[in-house]
Formats: sequence, structure tokens, C-alpha cells
Amino acid sequence: MRQIYLDHNATTPVRKEVLEAMMPYFSEDYGNASSVYSMGQKARQAVDGAREVIGNALGTEAADIIFTSGGTESNNFAIKGVAMANLNRGRHVITSSTEHLAVLEPCGFIEKELGFDVTYLPVDKYGLIDINKLKEAVRKDTILISIMLANNETGTIQPVKEIAKIARENKIYFHTDAVQALGKLPIDVEDMGIDMCSFSGHKVYGPKGIGAMYLRKGVRIAPFQHGGHHERSKRAGTENVPGIVGFAKAVEIAHKDMKKNDAHLKRLTKKMRDGLNKALKEIYLNGHPENRLPGTLNISFRYIEGESMVLNFDMKGISASTGSACTSGSLEPSHVLIAMGVPPDMAQGSVRFSFGYENTEADVDYCLTEIPPIVERLRKMSPLC
Ligand SMILES: *Cc1c(COP(=O)(O)O)cnc(C)c1O
Repeated sequence: MRQIYLDHNATTPVRKEVLEAMMPYFSEDYGNASSVYSMGQKARQAVDGAREVIGNALGTEAADIIFTSGGTESNNFAIKGVAMANLNRGRHVITSSTEHLAVLEPCGFIEKELGFDVTYLPVDKYGLIDINKLKEAVRKDTILISIMLANNETGTIQPVKEIAKIARENKIYFHTDAVQALGKLPIDVEDMGIDMCSFSGHKVYGPKGIGAMYLRKGVRIAPFQHGGHHERSKRAGTENVPGIVGFAKAVEIAHKDMKKNDAHLKRLTKKMRDGLNKALKEIYLNGHPENRLPGTLNISFRYIEGESMVLNFDMKGISASTGSACTSGSLEPSHVLIAMGVPPDMAQGSVRFSFGYENTEADVDYCLTEIPPIVERLRKMSPLC
């Protein structure tokens, strides 16, 4: 059976070139980057080179890039690290209600354990925050604003440059989760006025378990990995040399191919959306119609559940995902769609298709043949219909 992977926002395959770049650092060049002899120095050079590549891709210096284990760690570091280091300045943080759990849960943690107040900004029907509401939320004791660049479920892109401007005017640190934006949208951390920014390797055709944080010099942040002077003493631990090398290779290629992939992904998502719209009634796009990631397509199918669609698509070799999580037997609709005002039944009937550069028009044709009959069949069985 044909296998069509349409869940690139969950993870991506490691590219061949990336794997090739990594291989020597597992076997021949296995030195510890902290060792003084030449084998260690070879690893050190590889790490420094990777840092340079990633810094370049983000419009900043290599020295401002800190390698972490991924997006989750970078988000935790930014939020808990800034909270810990600035307790004397204030205990208020502003974020949005559509953040990834790797932002929302650290925010919950600092509320509970450090006595912080967190404002969760509402979003409009497209998932965008309102800049005026952000301005109103700013207080004397606000120390951090954390709002994502692009949403992983809907692809909606937030006005990060405007948010950063407000943060700067009020002397508040600004962090953005750019995990989904990396390699898909141009990011210039200096021009955008970002203080901290999270990235992950496995969302850009790099390996899992590696990521980075852009940390502008001068940001007061407490490390929470202690045990050595690695990564400017901000994140102790022996460097994951193959992971770092692979991550940089993936970023380099994503950057080189960004324009080409942007056009390709937009073409595929448009074809899919138009095709589904033609074949099926009562389906709705979630997220901003234009201001969105090129490969993300989140659609609500009325009267049926995302979970059953995803399982049935899988039987035809199509991998997609639903934002609703099955917890203790009941389906919880996505917090992102609920925050956007999508009714719970429609949120439960949502499926996210996220395309990658390796998907083809033929993949979309196959989906357009297989998906509509599945939806029609599930609707026939639905008690809601
Ligand atoms: C995947 C993802 C993360 C988590 O990154 P990991 O490297 O898997 O820990 C954080 N934020 C967003 C928006 C993501 O899509």
C-alpha cells in the first residue's frame, strides 16, 4: 500500500545529507568537544562550525546560540530560567492561549511553584492575538512575554515584530517559540527584536533530541542544567556532537531551499484544500487563510470525530493527526481550536495535514481519492448527522 506521510509538524524524517554529515561523529570522530587533544578539537570544530551555520541562518552571531535537547527544553529554559533569575523584578508573565504545551506547562509551573501571575491572552477566530490587548496586559511587574511565531496546529503566524517592539518599550524580555517557523519562514532575530527563541532539530529534517535556543547577550537567565562550563555555562552537559552537526546541516539545507519549498508546499496545500472543498460539504479551514505556514492545513469535518478519521486514513496509508487528545477514554478537543472559538464538536472533528518537501502532487491526488469516501462513510454512521 502507498504510504503518505502528512504529519511533518509532529516530526520529519532525517534527510540523507543530514545522516551522512552525522555519521563520522558517531564512529571515527567520537571525541569529547571539551578535550584538549586533536580528536576532541575535531569535535569542538564541528560544534563551532554548526553554531556558525545556525547563527548565520538566524541573522545573529554564533555565540548567541545555545544547543539544547530540543524545543521543549528551550521553552522550559526560557520561561523558568528568566522567571528564576528575575524574581526581584516582578512575577508577571504574558503568553497566549494557543501556545504549545511546552510553553503553557512551564507557565503553569512558575504560577504554582514560584507564585507568578500569568496572563493568557485570548486570540481571534484566526488564532491571532490582539496587540491592544497585549498592551493592556503589560504591568509594572511583567518580566517576560512569550508568544509563538507560528502555531503547530493551525500554522497561524503571530505579529512577532510588533510584539517584540512592545516588549522592548516596556523593558520586558521577549521569547518566541519558533520551532514550527524554522526553515519555513525567514527569521532574523535581531531585526525582529527577539531576546530568546526556541528551535528543534526533528521538525526540520534533523535528528530528534537536539535543538537550540537563541539567547541574546545580556538577558538575565538562570541555567537549570548544572555540571560544567558547556554552552557559555548556561547548559551543562557533554555536547551531542552528531546531533548538533546534523541539526546544522538540516538548517543549512532548509534555508537554501526555503523559497522553492514555500512555493511547493503552498501548491500542495491549495490543491488539497480545493479538492476537499469540491468533494465534501461542511468542511472548514482552521487558522488564518493567508497568514500561515505554507504546509499546514487544519480542517474541521462537521459531524465526525478527528480520531476516527485519522484511524481510517491510516488504513489507507495516510498519516495525519488530530489536535484532540484521547485522555482516559474521552476525547479532549484541542485547546488551540477552542481558544479560537471553534465549537467543541467542530474542534473534535478536526484533522491536521502537514506537508513536507518530499510530498508530491500525486500524494494529494491519492488523498483526494481516498479521503472523501471515508468521510462520507463516517458521516453516514454518525449520530450527529
Ligand atoms: C514540536 C514542538 C515543540 C517541542 O519540540 P521538541 O523538540 O519535540 O521537544 C515545541 N513547540 C512547538 C511549536 C512544536 O511544534
